[in-house]
Amino acid sequence: ELLINQIAAGEVVERPASALKEILENSIDAGAKKITVQLQQGGVKQIRVTDDGSGIAKDELLLALTRHSTSKISTLEDLHRITSLGFRGEALASIAAVSRLTLTSRQAGQNHAWQIGIEGKAVSQPEPAALAGGTMLDVNDMYFNIPARRKFLKSEATEFAHCDETFKRLALSQAGIEFVLQHNGTVRRLLRATSSTQRIAAVLGEEFGQTAAPVDEQSADMRLHGLVALPAYARSSRDAQYFFVNNRFVSDKLISHALREAYRDVLHLDKHPAFALFLEIDPESVDVNVHPTKTEVRFREARALHQFIFHAINKALATPSR
Ligand code: ADP
Ligand code: MG
Repeated sequence: ELLINQIAAGEVVERPASALKEILENSIDAGAKKITVQLQQGGVKQIRVTDDGSGIAKDELLLALTRHSTSKISTLEDLHRITSLGFRGEALASIAAVSRLTLTSRQAGQNHAWQIGIEGKAVSQPEPAALAGGTMLDVNDMYFNIPARRKFLKSEATEFAHCDETFKRLALSQAGIEFVLQHNGTVRRLLRATSSTQRIAAVLGEEFGQTAAPVDEQSADMRLHGLVALPAYARSSRDAQYFFVNNRFVSDKLISHALREAYRDVLHLDKHPAFALFLEIDPESVDVNVHPTKTEVRFREARALHQFIFHAINKALATPSR
């Protein structure tokens, strides 16, 4: 079982940033309004995420760390219209298989929190602990038990940069949640709950916020909104390309193509558009169940979607700059 979990872990937790993504998604799924991330040594030494979400009952702490155990879907129909970020029930089990993990949680109405620890096969019994309402997950010493994988981790700065990128994507997708990111005890990002436009500026920079063109296009079954950089503010790298489908970060060929086409005649060849765009679409017309890391999706009405995005961006770029 541990071996199976370690193999599965390779798929889900390639590096600290991939563990961080799963943990943050769980906090978001739990309805958190504030999420604090504290990293040590690029997340390799420690990832601690504290949220004020619904919490986990004492009897379910162990279940939360068990593979293929999820509280989020119970029927096949659920699988076809996924609204939570997680649904496979394997992330925490995979992370637990490659780290020393402590899970502390307190549900509303409880006098105190409960905590369990897991290291390799050894799982501790729940013990009383102190925590304000919500959940705290500590992931320590990633890959301490798999030296061959630990070797592939990069420098502290690089692992931190990956964690920061993961943090930015999730913070962009959830403007209504307050997010804090600390690294080695220093606050690196502090994002108060706000509108999605304000959040984009807070994450991508005030200049982007002030010079980009607003997009807001609605059809019978889709809405696209956000900001796109005007051609004059295109970038030399693809570092600011954020597209979300139902608040899930996506990197998708169809979408990139539609955007590239919209920019076709106004952008020099070596320049890349910068954007933060949110597509809202009926969950039944998009399949997010393509790959465990879930940045690819499949759309039922690909051609219509391509046209919709192309027109929305074209229109935004044609609007005179402010
Ligand atoms: P999934 O998210 O696919 O269900 P995970 O392995 O990520 O699977 O998490 C397992 C379960 O643990 C979740 O279904 C949820 O019930 C519980 N859980 C994990 N993190 C949290 C959290 N921060 N707050 C509340 N419940 C959580
Ligand atoms: Mg999850």
